[in-house]
Parts: sequence; C-alpha cells; structure tokens
Amino acid sequence: MNVAAAARRDERIRPRPGRAVVIASANGIPACDCAMDLLQQGGDPLDAVVAGVNLVEDNPEDHSVGFGGLPNEDGVVELDACVMHGPTHKGGAVAALQNIRNPSSVAKLVMQRTDHVLLVGEGALRFAKAHGFKEQDLLTDEARRIWLRWKEKHSDRDDWIHPEADLEAARFLGRNDVEYTYGTISCMALTPNGDLGGCTTTSGLSYKIPGRVGDSPILGAGLYVDNEVGACGSTGRGEANLINCSSFLVVELMRGGATPEEACKQVLKRVADRTEPRLRNGQGQPSYQLKLYAVRRDGMVGGACMRGDEGRMAVHDGKECRLVGLEGLYPALPLPASLSPTEQQKRS
Ligand code: ASP
Repeated sequence: MNVAAAARRDERIRPRPGRAVVIASANGIPACDCAMDLLQQGGDPLDAVVAGVNLVEDNPEDHSVGFGGLPNEDGVVELDACVMHGPTHKGGAVAALQNIRNPSSVAKLVMQRTDHVLLVGEGALRFAKAHGFKEQDLLTDEARRIWLRWKEKHSDRDDWIHPEADLEAARFLGRNDVEYTYGTISCMALTPNGDLGGCTTTSGLSYKIPGRVGDSPILGAGLYVDNEVGACGSTGRGEANLINCSSFLVVELMRGGATPEEACKQVLKRVADRTEPRLRNGQGQPSYQLKLYAVRRDGMVGGACMRGDEGRMAVHDGKECRLVGLEGLYPALPLPASLSPTEQQKRS
C-alpha cells in the first residue's frame, strides 16, 4: 500500500468516541448507507444492520448472498446468517436455509422469538414460514447458468457437455476458469452511545456439498459482538475461520488493548500458522483468502486480509461511506485475468 493510501486509511480508522460508525465487507456500501440512516434516527444497531444487509440479500446481482446467490452442487441455494445484539448479548442464526431470501431477518427472529440460537435446514424453513416469510426459488437465471457451466466444465469424464457460447456465465467466471467462489456480507454498527450490533449473511461457498455450513452463521467465527469491547465479522474461506473462532479471538485481543487492525492481523497469523499443507502454496503461504473486519467500542475500526493489498472494507463515519484498504499478510492471490474489471473489483 502506498503512503498516500496508508494515510487515507489511518485517517479513516481513528477512534471516534460519541459518533456512530458502520462497517462492512466491500460489497456493503448500500448496507452501510441504510444502517447509518437508521442509526442517525436513533435506531437500534442490530435493526440497522439487518435492514442494511437485506438490501444486499435482495440484490440479484450479488452472487454471494440471498436472492441470486450461487447454489450448492445440486443447484439449490442454501443460505447461512447470524446476528448478534450487543446491549442484550443475544444472538440468533440460521444455516442451510432454502427458499427464503432474507436469512438475516430470520436469524434476528430466532434471537427474539425463540429460546434457541441456531436453527438449520428444514426446521429453519418451517420457523421462517411460521413468521410469514414467503418461499421462493432463489436461483436466478444468471446464477443457474453459472452453476450449469461449473457442472458441465468441472470434469471431462462425465456426460455433461458445455457449449462454449454461454457468454453470460463465461463473463462471470472467466473463459477457462470454473471456480469455487466465496462471498458474503458482514456488517456491524456502533451507536453514539457505544452500543453494537452485527450481522453476517451469505450463500456460502459456491457448489458446496449440500448441507455444508460455513463460518458465517456461527457466532464466534463469522461474527462476534461484545458490547463492552467491540465487534468482528469475517468473509472468505469459512473452514479456516471455523476451526480458529477468529471473530471471538479478535474481540478478545481488542479487550486486551489491541487495535482492531492489530487484532485482525494477529488472528490471521495464527490461522496461517495452523493451515494444513494441502492449503499452502509453494512458498508455504495459505492459498486462500480470509478477511476480518472489526470495530472497537470507541469507534476505531480496522481489518486485515490473508492475501493481498487489495482487500477493502466499507466504513461509514456518519458523513459518507468509503472503501478503506486492508493490508494482507501475504501477497495477493492471482485473479483470473479474464474476469471483467467489475468482477475483479468485487472479489478484492
Ligand atoms: N465465509 C463464507 C463461507 O465460508 C463465504 C465467504 O465469505 O466468502 O461460507
């Protein structure tokens, strides 16, 4: 990161006591704008972030979450989400939820209207329907074509044949690449009084084994909020996060005095050190991406990513929402050159 970029980043991440702050993964600018509006009207931090991420869940062009998310290997969209409310220290989550486009809202109801924290699969769907959520097919035509291209191209030893002319899917994936993609939105809000709320919501790893649940709906992994300290959320390879409880650990390191950025870097280093050989590149570095985003109760924000200088987080300081650079522990992973510039940006 160059000096000017670092200075801009430092300017944005300083403490802001008594001021509302909203942060999110880079796809979360609309979520931050919406959440900040609600905070400025005196809204609750969890209500604010859920209203914000609903916009991203509803956007069929974001293939990482909600309606239009990429499906599992059977072509079925399965969603994971969790929420946590700082003032009450309560949380709720749903996993492997099908046919409901706003899993974050269902997770909030699990928190508010049950004695449980996590509902999965069929039970989560029945609970959502009991609360009036309408079932719908979440697989958009574009997401179906991307999935079909993956299905047709991932092996030349089966009976599925891919017509090279499917340009729409090719534009998303790159001409020759049939990738597994991660993607998620994580969003956290701090009120002027120092109350926190957070939400992480995702369609998870594309083409996953049906029933696979990532880090996003697991409190302590995809999200953790402690009203006395701060909050942390994550995106990227869920399996790496799940076995390290990264968000919980970031909050604990901030409790011990670390800045959000220091805490995120320390945790990513620990995750890297514990990475199995199968997931390391020729230099021994983790060959996957994992990003952590954190906000401290005094309004200081920061984050870090496993790979690359190109990671970004959305930060709304009450005046405007900007993308702030995240430092990577290791150099960037190569992105397929054939991806469109917009898609390259979305994945950074
Ligand atoms: N962490 C999510 C998962 O593993 C995906 C992502 O954030 O990219 O399901």
